[in-house]
Amino acid sequence: MSTAGIATLQDEVWALARERDAVILAHNYQVPEVQDVADFVGDSLGLSREAAAAEAGSIVFCGVHFMAETAKILSPEKTVLIPDLDAGCSLAASITAEQLRDWKREHPGAVVVSYVNTTAEVKAESDYCCTSGNAKAVVEAIPADREILFLPDMFLGIWLERVTGRKLTIWLGECHVHAGIRPEDIERWQRDAPDAELLVHPECGCASQCMAFANGRTHILSTEGMVNFAKGSSKSRFLVATETGILHRLNKEAPGKRFEAVSERAICKYMKMITLEKLRDSLRDRKHEVVVEPEIAERARGAIERMVAIG
Ligand code: SF4
Repeated sequence: MSTAGIATLQDEVWALARERDAVILAHNYQVPEVQDVADFVGDSLGLSREAAAAEAGSIVFCGVHFMAETAKILSPEKTVLIPDLDAGCSLAASITAEQLRDWKREHPGAVVVSYVNTTAEVKAESDYCCTSGNAKAVVEAIPADREILFLPDMFLGIWLERVTGRKLTIWLGECHVHAGIRPEDIERWQRDAPDAELLVHPECGCASQCMAFANGRTHILSTEGMVNFAKGSSKSRFLVATETGILHRLNKEAPGKRFEAVSERAICKYMKMITLEKLRDSLRDRKHEVVVEPEIAERARGAIERMVAIG
């Protein structure tokens, strides 16, 4: 689409959002033109906080389905829309509520910590939710003598074991995008760009290895952490190991610095299902409304609220 075409659509989206009293939330992995039209761009934790605090009557969630569900659970009185109902998540799909109930039966008395990338039904079976931004703080808030079942991302779980020194019982799920960023990608970049700082998301298939070889230039961070780090750093070149959508926000918020993707293949097809046209249609036609059964929402809310409360 031409730049003028994008600008026209964005104007249409803003006008519809005002008319419909809607706030637009967009995840860091959204396409640039959707990020640019959003009222707030952030990671799962930031977006959950914005959803909880939103004063508008409705929320249009530009992200994947579990995120929109989380917004609905936190703001049950609001209409929550997602521009494409098929925007799923391979990581959230790696465990069902039934599987979690079986796992809990095998580990009676354990505390269940679920990464936010889970369905509402799985959250309803959990004691705590967390994001990569506060997972360490959540684990550290649980008494040392309690067993912790951590799900569904194994790379994040392994990273957490290292940074907290706690032994976790970890579900073997993974995100296909992050798992696809391999140690070889990192090694190549470290050879080719010895002057660059390396920013690695803990979901990555290379994250645990990066920890093992960590040097002063390797930083394991959530996407929000990457933005804050780059803004505050005196360094000018950064290699980024996560979904490539974050580069747009990094370039915007830390202008004049150089950001490069460790893997150009790290693209989430689910995140990219949301387009400006679908966002416009969602606002105009009030589709697709996200619904969470009240009983499930009630049980999931406790775990999510504990996540939002822990910094
Ligand atoms: S990048 Fe991975 S974890 Fe994130 S939405 Fe896509 S599939 Fe899910």
